[in-house]
Amino acid sequence: MPRPISARIHVDAVRQNLDFVRRTAAASRVWSVVKANAYGHGIERVFPAPDAADGIALLDLDEAVRVRELGWTKPVLLLEGLFDARDVDTADRHKLTVTVHCDEQLDLLAAARPRQPIGIELKMNSGMNRLGFRPGDYARAWRRASEIAAIGPIGLMTHFANADDGAIDWQIDAFDAATQNLLGTRSLSNSAAVLWHPRAHRAWVRPGTILYGASPTGSARHIAGLPLRAAMTLESRIIGVQTLAPGETIGYGRTFAAERAMHIGVVACGYADGYPRHAPAGTPVLVEGVRTRIVGRVSMDMLTVDLTPCLDAGIGAPVELWGEHVRVDEVAEPSGTIGYELMCALARRVPVTVDAGVSPRASTV
Ligand SMILES: *Cc1c(COP(=O)(O)O)cnc(C)c1O
Repeated sequence: MPRPISARIHVDAVRQNLDFVRRTAAASRVWSVVKANAYGHGIERVFPAPDAADGIALLDLDEAVRVRELGWTKPVLLLEGLFDARDVDTADRHKLTVTVHCDEQLDLLAAARPRQPIGIELKMNSGMNRLGFRPGDYARAWRRASEIAAIGPIGLMTHFANADDGAIDWQIDAFDAATQNLLGTRSLSNSAAVLWHPRAHRAWVRPGTILYGASPTGSARHIAGLPLRAAMTLESRIIGVQTLAPGETIGYGRTFAAERAMHIGVVACGYADGYPRHAPAGTPVLVEGVRTRIVGRVSMDMLTVDLTPCLDAGIGAPVELWGEHVRVDEVAEPSGTIGYELMCALARRVPVTVDAGVSPRASTV
């Protein structure tokens, strides 16, 4: 028997989350963001889901080629654009749309002779201060791009710094002012702006994390009540049970002492599987369908849970670390991170299975 840990990927959940994005930004076309191997879920695994999207956005050229090889014929957007002159050929051959965020990338395209003009998304730095042309320089970049023969349609794009926790009007205003007289489709919204800033929806939206059912803020309570389903379940089993007398401690560092006589379950999951070592005592976990808590320090291959609310759970009892019942954000937040990081950091040693699920139409019958 392999060690009893696995991750299950729910393709139908991605599909339903995408449907929800569609209803929420009904007038917009949707780039499904599948960078970082679909936020750790596996591009190939979730791939049947984005068929309802209008485009796929990612940033690795190899991933873009994989998406084409899977048969995707709709637009593919490279979110960081081209890194090197050789990439122009890949973009040309696979009909990729490329982000252009600096003059060096315009230089690459100015020197290129692709078989057909390459569509671009011209990126503005409207306040994030990572990639993009400053608002004051944007119209010049747009004019330059429009004169380059290798460049096809020009989309106008920016990215928000704090759509998850605040007002973003300052960035929208900066973008709108600087693009007033420029032609092209607009694309502004990440997941947070899709959910909470309809003013930013425009022609295209670019949701990532909500497609996988995680919260853009890192906090599960901010998406409570929304029809967003977890696309990944990390599950394992109890492989040991200990009965502790009051005052006895568990695990490395002896960080947790039994408050009374306690049953403790040992779960085959640790930080080498991608579970955060910083998860404190009290982090929720589901044992045999019952919510309980982590106690003691997470070690490389194991963690320990309080069996008080589920005394019948013995060796072999199923454990959900995160998924449908315990949102990944509920593990991430007390650990000082966000669901994005935990999904992306699922370890290679964890076997992954795919729940192909049913189509949304069939599931509503
Ligand atoms: C990652 C990314 C997104 C998606 O962000 P989420 O917060 O996951 O929705 C959108 N746009 C750009 C440019 C990105 O890099």
